[in-house]
Amino acid sequence: MYVQVPFCSTTCAYCAFYQVRSEDDDLARYLMEVDTEFSLVETPLRAGTVFWGGGTRISLGVQSLQPDLLAALCRRHTRDQALRAYDLVRAAGFASVNVDLMFALPGQEAADWGGDLAAAIALGADHISTYCLTFEEDTALYVKLSQGNVTRDAEQ
Ligand code: SF4
Repeated sequence: MYVQVPFCSTTCAYCAFYQVRSEDDDLARYLMEVDTEFSLVETPLRAGTVFWGGGTRISLGVQSLQPDLLAALCRRHTRDQALRAYDLVRAAGFASVNVDLMFALPGQEAADWGGDLAAAIALGADHISTYCLTFEEDTALYVKLSQGNVTRDAEQ
């Protein structure tokens, strides 16, 4: 079972997913409404796994550990914060931790990508999800591509 959690403080440059900024108690109210919807299901659900917001239980949208690429993607976190978040979820006892990484980013060298993969493997992530960047319309990166300010990876 997948439960979407659509709150993001800022919009990543490549993101075309539905997301809004949460205000005040939006998250708490949202979770209460999810609970209410569960109570409306007449046949009790027996889900083997519940995904909250994506990934394999818990999933970290690291995307890159290169500071310049993180900035280009408008990610809010730094390399160190991503690594710290990984340590925190491990310390909290999550049994399965996924790390998301992106490739074919403008300006990303093969060594950057290899370094990110090696770092994720060294962390001991249970699963590593890799995503090829796509330029979705209505995203900041698509506008930059249209204006010729970034170029698409030649192998895309
Ligand atoms: S990619 Fe960025 S903006 Fe889109 S849902 Fe994930 S965190 Fe939010």
